Amino acid sequence: MTRSDTLFEQAKQSIPGGVNSPVRAFNGVGGSPRFIEKADGAYVYDADGNAYIDYVGSWGPMILGHNNPKIKQAVVEAVQNGLSFGAPTELEITMAEKVIAMVPSIEQVRMVSSGTEATMSAIRLARGFTNRVKILKFEGCYHGHADCLLVNAGSGALTLGQPSSPGVPEDFAKHTLTATYNDIDSVKALFETYPKDISCIILEPVAGNMNCIPPVEGFLQDLRDICDQYGALLIIDEVMTGFRVAKAGAQAHYGVTPDLTTLGKVIGGGMPVGAFGGKKEVMQYIAPTGPVYQAGTLSGNPIAMAAGLAQMEALEEDGLYEELARKTKYIAEGFKALADKHQVPMAINYVGSMFGFFFTEEQHITSFAQVTKCNMERFKAFYHGMLNEGVYLAPSAYEAGFLSMAHDDEALEKTLTAADKVLGSVDL
Ligand code: PLP
Repeated sequence: MTRSDTLFEQAKQSIPGGVNSPVRAFNGVGGSPRFIEKADGAYVYDADGNAYIDYVGSWGPMILGHNNPKIKQAVVEAVQNGLSFGAPTELEITMAEKVIAMVPSIEQVRMVSSGTEATMSAIRLARGFTNRVKILKFEGCYHGHADCLLVNAGSGALTLGQPSSPGVPEDFAKHTLTATYNDIDSVKALFETYPKDISCIILEPVAGNMNCIPPVEGFLQDLRDICDQYGALLIIDEVMTGFRVAKAGAQAHYGVTPDLTTLGKVIGGGMPVGAFGGKKEVMQYIAPTGPVYQAGTLSGNPIAMAAGLAQMEALEEDGLYEELARKTKYIAEGFKALADKHQVPMAINYVGSMFGFFFTEEQHITSFAQVTKCNMERFKAFYHGMLNEGVYLAPSAYEAGFLSMAHDDEALEKTLTAADKVLGSVDL
């Protein structure tokens, strides 16, 4: 028994499934999770003293790598002044102004403490603003665990094979319409059926909770046009892609302007932070200026703002996004070349510093249906092989991988050497 195994057994006694978020339990790959003791740069270290090159990055926030000195310093400085005030601070203005400067579609922004809160609040706002009840989301997209969004969701919900969660009343779920990602006709059909009922479309601009599926050419703009035609709002959920795929998020990468944007992960630098923002006219509709209620005891928390701001400032460095994209291409194309070498059928996708690989004969993966048909047994074998070689990938075939600035050439090389060995192993 490793120390991680022992801790997992102990954790299961006091924490449901031993984890505080389901996908961490390794249900998607089998075996027991590694308990992490510390992390630094591109590496995480488990309770048994093993080092792993980390492609999870705390599920997205750690774009500069772990334990970044600038973020650490900002947190240490902020802590001197107290942990939480529940009153406005200047730091929140700095953060809001930074977000607005970085993401042109955002004219006003409200801070929250998680991505779930961001999407949940943005949807309430869209419903209040349009005075319509229904929302349209896509199968396999995950937007957090609010009731109305846990319908045909991705991520952990998908890994656990629960398309819609028990506990979400049918009366709530019936207002969530589900379309097929990258299939504009499925969206048109729903708008034709409910022309005056749909308040908003919400989507991941690069779907990262069903592996990594970029939008097909024109898909995002078509969604924008449909929203305009029917008077619905377009919410681009950039909790994962924001400040990651590009400085101004996937919306800038693909050149489409949403009404509302939701943010999380990178914006907090590893602290619990989310945000939603967009057109001033819409944002003014939330309390206290407007009638739609939204609040949070720890919203805009000074320590979280300090960490997030330090990360956002560092992201303004020239050439940083090009460097992230170069590293990501190297890993994704490297996996593919090695799979070809060992005659293991594989497809890859990557955008900015997000990547995905698929054990399948198909070469262009654009749909949720294709992802579900991939060879899961092969994924599990590859996963554990890589873990044994010191590479920590997302423990589910439905999650994107992330690169950080701390992944230096040595870490990238080591990763490909491991992949070469594992892909060439007989068991696969
Ligand atoms: N939206 C997207 C696109 C996500 O990937 C996630 C989390 O993975 C969320 C929303 C929910 O964020 P959180 O887990 O911070 O509540």
